[in-house]
Amino acid sequence: MVEVAPPDGDTEVKNYVNGTWKTADGSEHNTLTNPATGDALGSVTFSSEADVDAAVSAGETAFEGWSSLPVEERIQPLFRLKTLLEDHQDELAELLVQDHGKTLAEARGELRRGIENVEVACGIPSMMQSGSLLNAAPEIDESAVRKPLGVFAAITPFNFPGMIPLWFLPYAVATGNSFILKPSEQNPLVANRLFELIDEAGFPDGVVQLVHGGVDTVNALIDHDGVAGISFVGSTPVAKLIYERAAANGKRVQAQGGAKNHIIVTETADLEFAAEKTISSACACAGERCLANDIVLVEESVYDEFADLVVERAESQVVGNGLEDGTDIGALISAEHEQRVREYIDTGIEEGATVLLDGRDVAVEGHENGNFLAPTVFGDVTQEMTISQEEIFGPVLGLSPVDSVDDAIERMNASRFGNAASLFTGRGADARKFRHEGEIGNLGVNVGTSAPMAFFHFGGWKDSFFGDLHAQGEDMIHFYTDKAIYIERWPDA
Ligand code: NAD
Repeated sequence: MVEVAPPDGDTEVKNYVNGTWKTADGSEHNTLTNPATGDALGSVTFSSEADVDAAVSAGETAFEGWSSLPVEERIQPLFRLKTLLEDHQDELAELLVQDHGKTLAEARGELRRGIENVEVACGIPSMMQSGSLLNAAPEIDESAVRKPLGVFAAITPFNFPGMIPLWFLPYAVATGNSFILKPSEQNPLVANRLFELIDEAGFPDGVVQLVHGGVDTVNALIDHDGVAGISFVGSTPVAKLIYERAAANGKRVQAQGGAKNHIIVTETADLEFAAEKTISSACACAGERCLANDIVLVEESVYDEFADLVVERAESQVVGNGLEDGTDIGALISAEHEQRVREYIDTGIEEGATVLLDGRDVAVEGHENGNFLAPTVFGDVTQEMTISQEEIFGPVLGLSPVDSVDDAIERMNASRFGNAASLFTGRGADARKFRHEGEIGNLGVNVGTSAPMAFFHFGGWKDSFFGDLHAQGEDMIHFYTDKAIYIERWPDA
């Protein structure tokens, strides 16, 4: 069993390459701080090109043996990993809160969603099968097979450090590939603890590896000839860069980007329920979610009543350290990001939105160095406003009256993003129209956050996604394997 040291100012975050822990060789460093307290947690050194090359070489060597192991043997470490993750879920959740700033309940929920992906990948022996047909032609049998491709890498964002790596890792290795994770340099502590458990789960050396770093490390992975494919999750400008660069290098690539998600509330909706779900969707994880619905389009006849319900619920949110009981909204990842969100609030005011609730003056006693914002609610937000168009990634939401569900769908579809949307209604015909016409990857009806279970794919449309095969579920099998056909004739004579 690995000894777990609580993060302190001296924690030095290391790479895990070829089964060994090693500090990266690069010249850049990042200091890590607890977003709720401002306390130093440690530091991470970025990986050099040589560090990346060592990991890719180890991955290529490991691939030879790993890919030819019987599939049943490949999934055994995943079963062990599931148990280890469950046994350590509380401890991981506490670390995640200190590393990220979200609440303990949110951290536990995130880890559960990650473990779900390990469980699904344990079903690879069935999921990886392809079709076959006897007598496809005279005396000829044909069968389709799926083959792993080599070394894959995933580059992940700060906002779900315990879950997003698991959208990829379990499927990559279960299908027979080796895998390298490059987590966010803003909060890499959870990835390191995950990899201590991965080490304990008993994968052969080089099958699963961890390299830390920033832009140069990412580019070294994307440009390396030994990497077969890249999964990326992060902001839209970077997703687009990664997609173009990896594709130009002849690699498979899936790149999930940012979002601007809408909620539509009709006059037949259960307004209290819709208001409660709206607040949790916009403010969970302090709004730092790609599924946060922060623009709410409300049928005019119920707009005022709904706005009052939303403000009432937003006012009751308790902001604080995510480790403390009763906290509803934790800290934002960094002081720089908090400042960015404040600037969006200023822009909303300058552009003429009505402030229904101002969350900027929040004070959390005993945590004067934390990055906190309480919910800000804007009314009369028009389509042209910046806060209506751009991803804010903070606890800020905007309400707009609309004439009809048709108007709301048209406005939702005009966004350049297409990650997620929700409709609250009591009318089936509205729900059908929303599902048919929504140009969005995840559509929820009477559900605040449309996050699919791990056995379904997860990904957006338009500027929220670049590529074709999404994260999670069956799409991952297609991404991590290529197909071949065997055509055989064995005549009697
Ligand atoms: P980010 O784009 O800043 O960073 C993501 C990763 O890319 C990090 O590992 C970072 O080191 C790396 N990176 C950053 N700039 C780079 C560059 N110029 N070249 C190469 N690599 C670079 O994103 P973030 O702030 O960590 O995460 C928040 C964003 O992620 C939001 O936009 C959010 O919507 C998005 N997100 C999307 C999904 C989804 O499924 N679509 C899920 C979670 C988060």
